[in-house]
Amino acid sequence: MPLDPKKLRPASRLVHGGVQRTPYGETAEALFLTSGYVYDDAEQAEATFTGTVEHYQYSRFGNPTITMLEQRLCLLEGAEDCRTTATGMAAVNAALLSHLKAGDRVVASRALFGSCHWIVSTLLPKFGIESVFVDGGDLDQWREALAKPTQLVLLETPSNPMLELVDLPAVAELAHRAGAIVVVDNVFATPLLQQPLQLGADVVVYSCTKHIDGQGRVLGGAVLGSKKWITEVLQPFIRNTGPAISPFNAWLLLKGIETLALRVDAASRAAAAIADFLAEQPGVSRVWYPTREDHPQRALAAAQMTGGGTVVTFEVAGGKDAAFQVMNGFELIALSNNLGDSKSLATHPATTTHMRIGAEERARLGITDGVIRVSIGLEDAEDLKDDLCRGLRRLAATHTILAAN
Ligand SMILES: *Cc1c(COP(=O)(O)O)cnc(C)c1O
Repeated sequence: MPLDPKKLRPASRLVHGGVQRTPYGETAEALFLTSGYVYDDAEQAEATFTGTVEHYQYSRFGNPTITMLEQRLCLLEGAEDCRTTATGMAAVNAALLSHLKAGDRVVASRALFGSCHWIVSTLLPKFGIESVFVDGGDLDQWREALAKPTQLVLLETPSNPMLELVDLPAVAELAHRAGAIVVVDNVFATPLLQQPLQLGADVVVYSCTKHIDGQGRVLGGAVLGSKKWITEVLQPFIRNTGPAISPFNAWLLLKGIETLALRVDAASRAAAAIADFLAEQPGVSRVWYPTREDHPQRALAAAQMTGGGTVVTFEVAGGKDAAFQVMNGFELIALSNNLGDSKSLATHPATTTHMRIGAEERARLGITDGVIRVSIGLEDAEDLKDDLCRGLRRLAATHTILAAN
């Protein structure tokens, strides 16, 4: 009998959680690349459909490789149940649309991932669902917005790209009093650095595309919550609308999770060191990193996170031109809007990921034209510092030329 993975410590769960060996005794998780399943006889098919025997029916409803991934994610998160999806956005969309109906009300933090913002601001109102945005770091705004009956709260903490935090226990209490469930997009923190379900949230969503794969290969998403909510609310929606993940992608994610703790730990340690390093460089006007002394919500970060995460955001003096100059000087750090990869990636949010939200909303979120977001990967931190200097030196060179003129 294999050990109950719940009795194992977290690192062991990442490697052994959810494994169901076939009679062939394979070491690696088996990849069931199949759309359907066969029954022994017509009676077994009937019993499967009436629910009296457990048998896979169709990979839109379930697949053994996908089940292994879902069980491993449950163990990691401390959740009762999980469903995975083709992308992170499919996970967010399913969590919201399965729970909501016309006439409902949603309160969300303004600093959401662009497509999450679009679902709340544009898609939900089309179906008669009212949406209200608040500044996530301001409890008074949450209190005011949640004074009215509400069905769902959506938030991201830390936020992209300014790494602003939301006080999870406080907002969960306000939300529950208003009748809402709390859905947390936990991509930036990862399941290792923050466990929203333990802090009062009801549902956690992930883009597995980020740290869970962590190697820039596949898209994937996950929704985790109570057994009751997942089976009664989410499951019928997923089963009938079909945002299913490919078993192949689920298999890659299973292998990705095995090294999640090692990768997130190494990248977070490098990110913290790089944040401190950047703060001392000429030309850098500000650095944002949740565990730094100068982060305005440092105490909250210490209370609800066990590390600052893998993303560092900084601002260079001189706006867009300066930011572009610095980024174009990088030779190791690649320019990409993705994050959570083993390769370090830099983004200029104002002209890419946050271009569509407009200048006014960017100003409200503090995303100036000089802001650069760096997702720290697994390179040696000293090489990353050298590369950041390569970029920043370009700025210094221009300043010198300007001063000389
Ligand atoms: C990437 C991301 C998503 C969307 O995930 P996809 O896998 O790209 O669909 C949602 N929320 C956050 C915070 C993200 O970083």
